[in-house]
Amino acid sequence: RAKSAGGNRFELADPEADARAITRHGLTTALPTALDRGEFFIEYQPLVHLGDGSVRGAEALVRWLHPQHGILGPDRFIPLAEHTGLIVPLGRWVLEQSVRQARAWRERYHDDGPLRINVNLSPCQLTHPGLVQDTVEILERAGVQPDALCLEVTESALIGADDALLKPLRRLAEMGVDIALDDFGTGYSNLANLRRLPVSVLKLDRSFTQSMQRFPADPVDLKIVEGIVSLAHSLDLAVTVEGVETGAQAEQLRILGCDTAQGWYYARPGPPDRLHELALVDATG
Ligand code: C2E
Ligand code: MG
Ligand code: MG
Ligand code: MG
Repeated sequence: RAKSAGGNRFELADPEADARAITRHGLTTALPTALDRGEFFIEYQPLVHLGDGSVRGAEALVRWLHPQHGILGPDRFIPLAEHTGLIVPLGRWVLEQSVRQARAWRERYHDDGPLRINVNLSPCQLTHPGLVQDTVEILERAGVQPDALCLEVTESALIGADDALLKPLRRLAEMGVDIALDDFGTGYSNLANLRRLPVSVLKLDRSFTQSMQRFPADPVDLKIVEGIVSLAHSLDLAVTVEGVETGAQAEQLRILGCDTAQGWYYARPGPPDRLHELALVDATG
């Protein structure tokens, strides 16, 4: 919309920016009722053990089936949900669904299926006073042990975190919930800071995996990953890698000592039944 301010000042219209703003506005308005209308759904992507290829768990990734725009990825609406505060009920819904799904897998596959569920947490959920209580109730209602749950928090959310922010995470970790540092290595990584955080898993960012794509891989990147893995292991942290798209990457990351991997090479995020199939193939050879 070209606006005229006063008599002779004009701004050029930017139709694309306008369209983006209109969509953003529309999505923001539709968000609060989307949860009640049941427009969100969750896809699951397996987490695979690099040593033996077995499915160890899955990450829950939320999507929005918008009546006009079709399926929207989290990058389109999570920032809006964070901004409007809807992330708290939405995040609670994702947690509840995911934990119930983990319970269903366990019932169906006993100990052969994907046993653990990873759920992403926004910074706003960390500061919300109900986090610990909600999580305990959700686990109890579903009859799932805390050690079957891993909450993923981005490294950037915890940069400079004070004790008040870390307290709920500590409580959850004490109960047996795993805390993973997501997208690790993208932010300003203060490695010494790791000791202070109640995390038990490092999730190495996709950018590291991407550099393993080239052959031979950049020797400096190899050294960096090797260093992160040895530091993590010496602090008793497990290392997961995301964004594994080829067998060569998986092999390289396995040699470097990473524990678990996730990526299109194994499976794209999909409906819970697809994970059943993968785990089944896996369990039967
Ligand atoms: P993330 O936690 O780092 O999740 C991994 C992202 O990488 C997912 O994108 C996944 O689909 C994508 N991915 C997986 N394997 C590959 C691969 O081999 N190659 C490539 N190029 N990409 C791969 P997605 O589903 O679009 O999610 C984006 C981000 O949205 C997530 O990043 C996470 O931070 C956030 N998110 C997703 N679900 C939730 C949620 O329930 N709550 C919150 N707060 N954030 C969420
Ligand atoms: Mg994640
Ligand atoms: Mg990640
Ligand atoms: Mg990532």
